[in-house]
Amino acid sequence: MSADPFSLKGRRALVTGANTGIGQAIAVALAGQGASVTCAGRRSCDETVGMIEAAGGRAESLLLDFADPMAARDVFVGAGYTALVNNAGIIRRQDSVDFSEADWDEVMDVNMKAVFFTCQAFAREVFATGQGGSIVNIASLLSFQGGIRVPSYTASKHGVAGITKILCNEWAAKGITVNAIAPGYIATNNTEALRNDPDRSAAILERIPAGRWGAPEDIAGMAAYLCSPAARYVNGAVLNVDGGWMAR
Ligand code: NAP
Repeated sequence: MSADPFSLKGRRALVTGANTGIGQAIAVALAGQGASVTCAGRRSCDETVGMIEAAGGRAESLLLDFADPMAARDVFVGAGYTALVNNAGIIRRQDSVDFSEADWDEVMDVNMKAVFFTCQAFAREVFATGQGGSIVNIASLLSFQGGIRVPSYTASKHGVAGITKILCNEWAAKGITVNAIAPGYIATNNTEALRNDPDRSAAILERIPAGRWGAPEDIAGMAAYLCSPAARYVNGAVLNVDGGWMAR
């Protein structure tokens, strides 16, 4: 292991959904540890690139829209990536009895199908070069729990946990660590509707032992760790970063 096992120097990483929220914080953290980071999103990630460059790091913006779940199929070829963070995700809220097929399909495509096929594209390239790599998928507490009024999101995030485990089983011995982070309740666009609902917001806060909602930066350190040599024996884990929510 290198002198600093947490260093990402010499690594090239791709983070999806890096224009805002958790993905932006992860991109900044990976760059802060020395990685060169491709900030991918369906919209420009120039703000994130600016934050990284202002701190002395290296980054670029890449347009990738996972409305086509195969969007990343050619991105990794010959490009030297050794880390992938599948963070892009969407949520649709509606009572299950009224939930539409469109809201089911859109969420499954972005949150689950795109995650699997982006992992596949990354792994094909890593196996071709033989240099090893790290994958971090962003799961959810709804990889373990049911949630309310978010059926396709819950199904997709259970799926992300399962994909993480099968890819671990197939790829750990071939040099790719595959893990997931299950964030708790983090203040981002994803949770705006919950935070604007006084009853739901109070009920959620009351259960969080840390006594506050999480910030995107609270997730970023775990992602940087999982991409680093320090985590080389962490395989197939779905790690909660949730202020203690799952301990209750
Ligand atoms: P967010 O601010 O809404 O970020 C989601 C990111 O995914 C945005 O960059 C978004 O781009 C991108 N995205 C959505 N659809 C896309 C598509 N078709 N192609 C490419 N990128 C797309 O919410 P967040 O909380 O940071 O979410 C990040 C991840 O954490 C998601 O997987 C989410 O499920 C997960 N998560 C969040 C929480 C939480 O409490 N916030 C908890 C557990 C898990 P746009 O900005 O263009 O929409």
